[in-house]
Amino acid sequence: MSDTPDVDRLARSMLLLHGHDDEEHEHGHTPSPGGPGSWRKAPDFASDPERAAAVREATRRDRERYLSSGLVSIDCRFCHVAVQVKKLGPAHTSVQWNSEATARCAHFSEIRASGGDPARERACPRLADSIRHAVAEGCLEEYSSAPAPGDG
Ligand SMILES: [Zn+2]
Repeated sequence: MSDTPDVDRLARSMLLLHGHDDEEHEHGHTPSPGGPGSWRKAPDFASDPERAAAVREATRRDRERYLSSGLVSIDCRFCHVAVQVKKLGPAHTSVQWNSEATARCAHFSEIRASGGDPARERACPRLADSIRHAVAEGCLEEYSSAPAPGDG
């Protein structure tokens, strides 16, 4: 009990100092240069279009890299178009058609020729076959290791 820590006294004197300081401020009450309500505005790039473009470009590239990670180019064995495929699971395959592939796919052409709307088709069944083959050959990494219903 006798060894009163100096810290305690120090803290108290600091408190006193602070109190004094506060009082002085209250008396002075000089408005700060920016005014109490004026926040420093967060940097928006409106005044700096070059930087804004750079930031946007970087974001776009990041997203592209994310989207294309795990994508494998698969050739449709029937119509020989290449699409980007990402296998997310046994029942979930993400296929990214580009306009050239859509235009050249024989299955889609058939639909167009018969007056149908290829946009309503989810994928070319031959391509689905090719994807299955690619998975079987280990060309396409499947994210889940469920055993495929073996066909030899
Ligand atoms: Zn096809």
